[in-house]
Amino acid sequence: MTKYIFVTGGVLSSLGKGITSASIATILKQSGFSVSMLKIDPYLNVDPGTMSPLEHGEVFVTADGAETDLDIGHYERFIGTTLSAKNNFTTGQVYQSVLKKEREGGYLGKTIQVVPHIVDEIKDRIRRAGKEHEFLIVELGGTVGDIEGLPFMEAIRELKHELDNSNTMNIHVTLIPYLAAAGELKTKPAQHGVQELRRIGITPHMLVCRTERPLPKDLKRKLAMFCDVNSDAVIEANDAASIYQVPLNFIKEGILSPLSNHFNIKIKPNMEKWETLVKQIILPKDEITIAFVGKYLELKESYKSLTEALIHAGANLNTKININWCDSERIEDVGAYEIIGNSDAILVAGGFGNRGIDGKLKAIKYARENETPYLGICLGMQLAVIEYARNVLGLEDANSIEFDKETSNPLIYLIDEFIDQSGDTQLRTHKSPMGGTMRLGEYPFNPKDGTKIKKAYGNNEVYFERHRHRYEVNPFYKTNLENAGMIISGDSNGLIETVEIKDHPWFVGVQFHPEFTSNLEKPNPIILNFIKEALNNR
Ligand code: GLN
Repeated sequence: MTKYIFVTGGVLSSLGKGITSASIATILKQSGFSVSMLKIDPYLNVDPGTMSPLEHGEVFVTADGAETDLDIGHYERFIGTTLSAKNNFTTGQVYQSVLKKEREGGYLGKTIQVVPHIVDEIKDRIRRAGKEHEFLIVELGGTVGDIEGLPFMEAIRELKHELDNSNTMNIHVTLIPYLAAAGELKTKPAQHGVQELRRIGITPHMLVCRTERPLPKDLKRKLAMFCDVNSDAVIEANDAASIYQVPLNFIKEGILSPLSNHFNIKIKPNMEKWETLVKQIILPKDEITIAFVGKYLELKESYKSLTEALIHAGANLNTKININWCDSERIEDVGAYEIIGNSDAILVAGGFGNRGIDGKLKAIKYARENETPYLGICLGMQLAVIEYARNVLGLEDANSIEFDKETSNPLIYLIDEFIDQSGDTQLRTHKSPMGGTMRLGEYPFNPKDGTKIKKAYGNNEVYFERHRHRYEVNPFYKTNLENAGMIISGDSNGLIETVEIKDHPWFVGVQFHPEFTSNLEKPNPIILNFIKEALNNR
């Protein structure tokens, strides 16, 4: 029977519930259990796909093409498992299913209410996500006391009855602030958060205490007493040097005994490899600098998977990766060299809309002409093709129809018909709705022999990477591009997936997002090779 661990948060948001949940999952996974994770988002949007990155941070794309919360990315990166649409749901999705069923007459004339109908739908979704796993870690977004969180809390409470106390555990992440004026760590906010939880009928079995200072023993005892948890179940979570250090810190803090005691099982994680990688993140041997060219630099969260993927590659190469954040609009004003300077390699990330495009094109030209290792991801590949067409093929008005619908040389275009993952044909024109019209999720691609991409992956035949884009490279220009020295190094059923440049040490563009498949123990091969090239270029 699946065991469920529910993680709630109190006092305030941004306490690191996602990392806490992923760390507990990692400990269980490394102990040999089959573990999955679920993030519940109490907002009304159906998914974060249409939210601005400034509003929400990154949209993480799962293998099956769901646009999910960025915490799902953390989960995959920690537990190294492929998750899917069912591992993240929102209030919007819950209501959508219930209302659909109501319209179809599925409730046989009953009055539809939050209790039981919405709560039942939530419980079903939680159980579905837990199926076929020994553990499901469920992270509830938001903070205890939020109005929109109540139906989820009720579902957690009811599940304890249905599944039995021995199969469910509640972990509460809270804050122990330090008041400088009083010179004291304060437990009252944590106590209030727990009171709020208990008012709903949930008593936590463990407290994870975020703090900037070590918690003295008597304070832990006090917390255990007033929050009604076992005295060994108050876990200190100090700020860590790397998020990947958190599972190791939890183990040092003694998390294994309350977990084992609660579920009455042996938990013995093997963290040897993990520990080595974490050491190489914190005290690396080498160091390089990547020029990261993007437009949402105010909110680095919107590039979370990519910055994490760089850390994974660095950890595996014992190298610290410094990021030189290059605002593409500043490059437009000041010039590529001035901003990129002597970075060891250049990365142009994905993006939407035409803001900052010229700056990105300048960065790409700089990489091409100066033989600087270059990785272009999604928009970064499309722009590499445009730059090549403009400056090497001489097609001055080469463009993407995303930026100029009337361009006479649409190097990046919209294909009319597209077969999606489920085998359905999608029509993609400028009039099609914005939500859900992208090429999303995992598709196979075939790298050509003798290319840098093929070398990066090794020798297997077909590779799977994840997509999130609307436009494609126009195959009409393929021969011209190839004759001019651009290598089309990989394709997926006729769609151009990767490009390279002949006679350049390492210039690679990929239409997919390699960062979505990277995790600490298994970095993405393309990103790993990019970092190797940057190291060679020092
Ligand atoms: N805007 C481009 C497209 O829709 C690229 C998207 C991306 O970089 N994720 O095709």
